[in-house]
Amino acid sequence: MNDRPRDEHRTARSRKATDEEADAWRDLVATARRTAADGLVVGTSGNVSVRVGDTVLVTPSGVPYDRLTPDDVTGVDLDGRQMLGTLVPTSELPLHLAVYRTTGAGAVVHTHAVHATAVSTLVPELPLIHYMAAALGGPVRVAPYAPYGTEELAGNMLRALAGRTGCLLQNHGTVTCGATLDQALDRTAQLEWMCRVWLTASSVPGLTPSLLTPGQLAEVQERMRDYGRRH
Ligand code: 13P
Ligand code: ZN
Repeated sequence: MNDRPRDEHRTARSRKATDEEADAWRDLVATARRTAADGLVVGTSGNVSVRVGDTVLVTPSGVPYDRLTPDDVTGVDLDGRQMLGTLVPTSELPLHLAVYRTTGAGAVVHTHAVHATAVSTLVPELPLIHYMAAALGGPVRVAPYAPYGTEELAGNMLRALAGRTGCLLQNHGTVTCGATLDQALDRTAQLEWMCRVWLTASSVPGLTPSLLTPGQLAEVQERMRDYGRRH
């Protein structure tokens, strides 16, 4: 994918980006680069999007993040019609748009983080190993497998995401959303970390990790309402 000439990604030209969209694009590219730098994706795996009004800026398909420039702003409307740029939008457009159509999210991050992807092959829901599940809205579900880029995958993901801000995609990776790119990325990092904790604890021969009860998690969700607001 990486070696295809850039022109193969080109489609018909559309309108010029506003200043707000240009700023959001800069933040989107920085976030996408962080997913690679933080080891959450390898190569051109994964994708990132951010909503500016009724336009959704997305990473282009198959283009390494370090090659993206301020001129590469790529955006679609909520029906997936290209509004900005000439690069082909991410193949996971159905997944990103499904989140924006059904939630108030401002940003979505999709990765192939190692521990999260490993967990997605083992269980239908990440066991309640840590209270940080509360930061994702509760126990994190695994969306049943469907091929990448399909409406079927987007539908499976939406069901797994109900009442949550993150889920796993079976044999594939993670999806998180948030009000901002930073929040969506932070949730991916927390989810990957929790998956790593569960895998580590459940790998000790002869021992089984203790888990939190739904009641214990609800108590934390209550406490978290005020977290970070105390001075
Ligand atoms: P894109 O390069 O098209 O965004 O695809 C990467 C990916 O992770 C598909 O699931
Ligand atoms: Zn993927």
